[in-house]
Amino acid sequence: VAIFAGALAVLGEVYGDLLRAAGASERLMELLASRSPVLPPERPLAPPVPVGGSAVRLADVQFHYPSRPQAPALSGFALDVAPGETVALVGPSGAGKTTVFQLLLRFYDPQQGTIAVDGTPVRDWQPQVLRSRIALVPQEPVIFSASALENIRYGRPEASDEEVQAAAHAAFADGFLRALPEGYGTFLGERGVRLSGGQRQRIAIARAILKNPPLLLLDEATSALDAESERMVQAALATAMRGRTTLVIAHRLATVQQADRIVVLDHGRIVESGRHEELLAAGGMYSRLAALQFMT
Ligand code: ADP
Ligand code: MG
Repeated sequence: VAIFAGALAVLGEVYGDLLRAAGASERLMELLASRSPVLPPERPLAPPVPVGGSAVRLADVQFHYPSRPQAPALSGFALDVAPGETVALVGPSGAGKTTVFQLLLRFYDPQQGTIAVDGTPVRDWQPQVLRSRIALVPQEPVIFSASALENIRYGRPEASDEEVQAAAHAAFADGFLRALPEGYGTFLGERGVRLSGGQRQRIAIARAILKNPPLLLLDEATSALDAESERMVQAALATAMRGRTTLVIAHRLATVQQADRIVVLDHGRIVESGRHEELLAAGGMYSRLAALQFMT
């Protein structure tokens, strides 16, 4: 798996722009992040799974994608997230938000600086152990050609049917899944039942809840959902964030208002951080983004 992931990381470098244009790179990220069997660690034993959430630290990070040495994606980037904290990342398209997730999942290493989870540099973790501690909910979740049950079980392959259903319930997905022709046994994906955007997101949130990791990375969907779906997704996210550390790339006012801290990125740098009201009052980039309702 590590070799496979490595090969894909190289592919991602070479075809980064192409993949991104197709929206594929974030989908690969989800696949690689979730299907990581935990092997016995070779190098330093993995730190014990923290109760109440991971500590995350990015210090003095300088990073450019290997295919673009002239274009830093993150510069002088420093962020400390306490266990259990919810931090919203906001900023214009191309600011570097998704890149922060790529580095935390260790699809790339920065050219400079340190990234640590639970006090251990991510370079010292076995990637699959690191990724077993993180759930990623991407903007456009992957729905497989498989039953609803199997689609959610992907979050933790050894979970029982009952555990899958409990996670679906917590993610506000149980209602619509039961209403499908064959309930949880209904075939989804290209040749099965097509789900709405909000339903796909709730499937991805259910996977994350089932995985139950100390660190949650959410890339909120930009596409508009109908009001009903929006409310359910918001409620599902609130459940998913409870009791763990969450970094959320936020596009919605409701999400930033729930965050403990908002960090505003522009051109790979943190330009502002604080709480919603503070940042609105400051009249900087955040207040301009808020006026546009974060539509990036
Ligand atoms: P955001 O998520 O804030 O929209 P990204 O983190 O995706 O921004 O991108 C930050 C910068 O890095 C942008 O200039 C983007 O074009 C570039 N970038 C992102 N992914 C890749 C990649 N796989 N290969 C090369 N450049 C990339
Ligand atoms: Mg992004």
